[in-house]
Amino acid sequence: MDLTYNGSRQNHSRFSRTAFFSYMQAGMSFSDLGLSPEVLKAIEDAGYVEPTPIQQEAIPYVLMTRDVLGCAQTGTGKTASFTLPMIDILSSGRAKARMPRSLILTPTRELATQIAENFEIYGKYNKLTMALLIGGVSMDEQTKKLDRGVDVLIATPGRLLDHFERGRILLNDIKVLVIDEADRMLDMGFIPDVEKIVSLLPKIRQTLFFSATMPPEIRRLSDAFLMNPKEVTVAPQSRPAAETVTQKLAVIDQREKREALRRIIKQETVETAIIFCNRKRDVDILDKSLRKHGFNAAGLHGDMDQASRTETLERFKDGKINFLVASDVAARGLDIDDLPVVFNFDVPMHSEDYIHRIGRTGRAGREGRAFSLATPEDGVYVESIETLLGNPIPRIEIDGLDAVDLEEGDGKRRGRSRRSGGRRRAQKSGSGRNPSRDRQEKTNISTSDDENPHQRNKSPDKAARNDNRQAKQKDDRSSKKKEDKARSRRGRGGNNKDQDKSVVGLGDHMPDFLKKPARPS
Ligand code: AMP
Repeated sequence: MDLTYNGSRQNHSRFSRTAFFSYMQAGMSFSDLGLSPEVLKAIEDAGYVEPTPIQQEAIPYVLMTRDVLGCAQTGTGKTASFTLPMIDILSSGRAKARMPRSLILTPTRELATQIAENFEIYGKYNKLTMALLIGGVSMDEQTKKLDRGVDVLIATPGRLLDHFERGRILLNDIKVLVIDEADRMLDMGFIPDVEKIVSLLPKIRQTLFFSATMPPEIRRLSDAFLMNPKEVTVAPQSRPAAETVTQKLAVIDQREKREALRRIIKQETVETAIIFCNRKRDVDILDKSLRKHGFNAAGLHGDMDQASRTETLERFKDGKINFLVASDVAARGLDIDDLPVVFNFDVPMHSEDYIHRIGRTGRAGREGRAFSLATPEDGVYVESIETLLGNPIPRIEIDGLDAVDLEEGDGKRRGRSRRSGGRRRAQKSGSGRNPSRDRQEKTNISTSDDENPHQRNKSPDKAARNDNRQAKQKDDRSSKKKEDKARSRRGRGGNNKDQDKSVVGLGDHMPDFLKKPARPS
């Protein structure tokens, strides 16, 4: 451990020499970390017996007001690793109106709410004020809280900037900045907002930066935001998935995914689980399908208003819902103790999302299970997940369903499933499409590569142009048909100009009887 003290900052540390030496010993307890009696009592009330590895590593440094770069996935106890010492750091001093003393930036509302809950639990014997600035809820209430002065401000980047731009908040009294789930911020496109926010903060501050993975872009940010940070890594980068999670993967035909899910639930006696889908639309479809088959399910995705999201989550937490079908947006902030099973109904396109999803289970040392359903076309995504994990995911056979092979992940997807019949059926019904591939094909191509070999070598633009031409020809044909019909209607009816023209075919002669009026009946 590096005990270097950054003299430019006020030392709030309660970290004693004794604590330091006991830290070096095995079997560490919370009282060895230098936390205050108030915080220790709150931890005891929460029922925690000993600190998790990230807590053991990070808390002493945070108390020393050092910057920390934490490479830790969700479920490792990382939230407490910064909230516990922050409570002690902020316990002396008072916040001025509209000038928060600390700022925690998170990518999602759920994660922000979860952190706020943590502050409430651990800070119950301290009198810290807190505000939560998240989208989807009224700004007025948030403004009132800011006006009263807050010690801890937890915010999503967009809503924080909204308040700042309206002049409702000043950020020049921030002493501690936490950036949580930085890699998720990157995925969600929040980095420019985060950079803007950081540029508004005082240069002299303490920064705690957490990310489950450290891609180069995140490394660049941490270099820019942190000063001489203590780096704490609790899981090696190549194997970031919680080791307490047993992972299984089933490769099945796209048409059989819902059936496969129901069968695994029964086969593996799953009583409660979160089921992740790649798209919001599929969340709704799967939720309805599960309910139709008698499962106690509900859906959760980013398009729902905050009140319904919170309510659904609460019902799931209380055990009133057994199966929560969720999109990725919901994945980050879910803090549900003891979640035994996670399903990936779709293989995520980003391997990091896989880690985040399965991190919902096997938390804080408990056992968890994660089942993923892949279709042959998911080969490339499975490959990248397995590379990140450093291991193949063990395969599972589903009772009564045929297993198929993954296509090779070389981008050409030339593999074929073992069960050609199933594939043919899928093509015929048009349901054999891979959602992730659908997303890639947002062009006007009407048939997938597999369905129409002639399209295979065409560029998307070319194919789209071809489709447009075909559509135009079809339109031309149908308007011609319409005209013909109209013409024949006109021919039959008495209301048209053609009636005045001479009749071709009878010659100039018209028999007299034709000119006589018909006899009334
Ligand atoms: P996090 O990684 O912060 O999302 O935390 C995962 C879960 O572990 C949360 O439900 C915490 O309440 C719980 N937790 C955090 N620290 C401990 C600990 N030392 N002992 C037991 N559970 C903990």
